[in-house]
Amino acid sequence: MTSSDNSRCARAGEIEAFTTPPSVPPIFQTTAFDVADLDQLQAISAGEQHGYIYTRDRNPNHDAFARAIAELDGGEAGVACSSGMGALAAIVLAHVESGDHLIVARVLYGRSLQLVRHLTESFRVDVTLVDATRPDEFRAAVTPRTKLAIVETLSNPLVEVTDIPAVTAALEHVPLLVDSTFTTPCLLKPIAHGARYVLHSASKHLNGHGDVTLGVVVGPRDIMDRSRELASIFGMNANPFDCWLATRGLRSLPLRMTRISETAHKIAGLLEQHPRVGRVFYPGLTSHPSHATAAALLTRGCGGIVSFEVAGDGRESASRFMRAASAIPFSPTLGDSRTTISHPASTSHRYLDASEREHCGVTDNLLRLSVGLEAADDLQTELEQGLAALR
Ligand SMILES: *Cc1c(COP(=O)(O)O)cnc(C)c1O
Repeated sequence: MTSSDNSRCARAGEIEAFTTPPSVPPIFQTTAFDVADLDQLQAISAGEQHGYIYTRDRNPNHDAFARAIAELDGGEAGVACSSGMGALAAIVLAHVESGDHLIVARVLYGRSLQLVRHLTESFRVDVTLVDATRPDEFRAAVTPRTKLAIVETLSNPLVEVTDIPAVTAALEHVPLLVDSTFTTPCLLKPIAHGARYVLHSASKHLNGHGDVTLGVVVGPRDIMDRSRELASIFGMNANPFDCWLATRGLRSLPLRMTRISETAHKIAGLLEQHPRVGRVFYPGLTSHPSHATAAALLTRGCGGIVSFEVAGDGRESASRFMRAASAIPFSPTLGDSRTTISHPASTSHRYLDASEREHCGVTDNLLRLSVGLEAADDLQTELEQGLAALR
């Protein structure tokens, strides 16, 4: 190697400018961006020129994904974060300091409840837990220090539907953050119903192929700028490749959500008729306590989550079912192209103690399906295999 080879190697891989743009956006897999001079640095930092400096702060793939979700959800801007939990941390930290107050739905994704509990225990943020199906509880909980209320569109795993217009009316000036992971903007647009912010775990339906960990939050531009800054300070920024994959996933999102909702509705109806199944939870069923709210808000489908209780003795029956229905993978996620099954008591709700689990309706014989893109007939056969194995 000559010394100029050393320099060639160090600077290798430059792409010559060309006139035909790529049909698909490239992945900007770069830590930083080269800045022409100090004037340009100043202009970009001040927002006078559109440019990028450092990927932890901002990256074209973050922006492309977050902008797409902001447009779909009807928000001004969005921020992509390293996970759904990262997005939740960023937006919550943009609102509270010690002594402030949050109103939080009692039934929330397990890790989200843990995050809130951590804020209480370590940072003296006060939290009032409320029943998301009771808007009056939100009204009663508001104090002068209430900075934010947090709900999910559909609860996990009993799929109760939050009446977002009623909750925002009850909260008056307190901003509402809606975790819309289960519904996506294809089925529900919370901002149109009065919510200030929408959050998604893009690890689920938005990406839809089970190969990404990513989150996004959408809302007014000033708070999104603050949340992006917090995501950078705490290192909760998204990775460009995950943003690129999730943006690709979006292209089929409407087709997937429609198909998933249709299949889930069909499967829920079949399970409800089966003698070895106890209660079935799907808001599209007239038997579901949230059916009326679903009929008003979820006119394009109720999503892919169906929960049901298997007959028999709790955890043992659940286990027997899962082994016999082995074509359906046991995977503690949702929103994959494959239908997956989960045992909430051992997965999403394992961080809660027994009484908290009971409050969430999570019994040991409860299973949760995240319906995917397979043929409904195949799923029916596979579920019947599982049920046939029950005593
Ligand atoms: C998965 C999930 C989250 C957390 O998202 P990650 O991307 O796993 O961090 C938050 N809310 C809901 C409703 C979820 O299902």
